[in-house]
Amino acid sequence: MVQTYIKGNSNKQKSLANGFDVKAIEAAVETMLRAFGEDPKREGLKKTPKRIALMYPELLKGYHTDPNKLVNNAIFTVTYEDMVIVRDIEFFSLCEHHMLPFMGRAHVAYIPSGKVLGLSKIPRIVDMFAQRLQVQERMTRQIADFLMELIAPQGVAVVVEALHLCAMMRGVRKHDARMTTSAMHGGFRNNIATRQEFLDNISRGAGPLKI
Ligand code: ZN
Repeated sequence: MVQTYIKGNSNKQKSLANGFDVKAIEAAVETMLRAFGEDPKREGLKKTPKRIALMYPELLKGYHTDPNKLVNNAIFTVTYEDMVIVRDIEFFSLCEHHMLPFMGRAHVAYIPSGKVLGLSKIPRIVDMFAQRLQVQERMTRQIADFLMELIAPQGVAVVVEALHLCAMMRGVRKHDARMTTSAMHGGFRNNIATRQEFLDNISRGAGPLKI
C-alpha cells in the first residue's frame, strides 16, 4: 500500500509526542507571543504555549495515521456493482498557507469492482488527509487516489465543499468564502450519467455551509 504518512519516531526524544516535537512548538509559540508585543508570562497566556503545543498533534494527527491499520479488516469481497455514496462527511483542516482552519463537508462515492470498504472507514480516510497542513484541491485528490488504489473500483468521485477562515478573516473579508473541489476517476469521469447521478444525490436536501 502507498506510504501516505510519516512513520513515528517516538522514543528518540522526551519532547516528541506522537511524532511532534512539542517542546519546539511551545518555544515557537512563546516567541510569537513576544513578537506580538505580548507578555507570555501574564496569567491568561502563561499556559498558552503548552496548550497550543499539545493541540497541534491532535489537529495534525493525519500525518501519523497508518493507512494500513486504518483500513485493517474492512475490505470485503462482494458482487455489488452499484454506486456507494457517503455524503456530508464533516471535516476540519488547516490551510498550509496561513495555518488557519478550513472546514466543511466531503462527499465520497465509488462503484465497486469486486471489493467494498466498510462504510465507517470512509470518514476516517477523509480525516487522515484533512488532519494535516493542506490545500483543499490536494486533499480532494488524495482521498480519491487513496480509494482508487485501495479497492480498485470502477470509479471514484470526491466532492469537497469548505469555508476558509483565511479568506473570511483577512484581506477582502469575504464572508462567503466557500470553495468546492472535485476529483473524479473511472466511470465518474467518463460517464456523464454516472457523474450526474452522484451530483444529484449530493445536492438533494443539502443546506448551505455555515459556521
Ligand atoms: Zn489560507
